[in-house]
This record gives sequence, C-alpha cells and structure tokens, in this order.
Amino acid sequence: VSARLRVRLDASLCVGHGRCYELAPEVYGEDVEGHCRLLHAELPRELEDAARRGAANCPEGALEVEEG
Ligand code: SF4
Repeated sequence: VSARLRVRLDASLCVGHGRCYELAPEVYGEDVEGHCRLLHAELPRELEDAARRGAANCPEGALEVEEG
C-alpha cells in the first residue's frame, strides 16, 4: 500500500481570498471569515489531484501537500 497524501494548512499564512476552495471545493472549505479549512482529516485517494491543485494555487504558500 503506497503512502497517502497529506495536506497541511498553515493558518497563520492564510489571508482568505479563497483560491483553494474555489478551485478544489471538495478538499478545501471556508470558515466564517473566509479562511481556509481542511474538509478531510484523512484525504480520500480520489481527491488527491484536487488537493494538489488547490495547494499549488495558494499564493501565500499556506498549503502544503506531502506524500505519506
Ligand atoms: S488560497 Fe491560500 S491564502 Fe487563500 S484561502 Fe486558500 S489557503 Fe488561504
């Protein structure tokens, strides 16, 4: 079994303009202030591409994906 993708959010870097949850709403949500929140404690495999897409488009570098 290969390792799973993990997403890490550095909330101190998130400014809440929402590119992540606009591009990948199945992985990223928004809190009441428009900041990102992660929707899955364990990311389902079929959402890995979406997770990468959202993280790659965060201009603040607040999102990081790591294999395993
Ligand atoms: S794209 Fe980055 S800065 Fe913008 S809401 Fe998402 S995590 Fe926050």
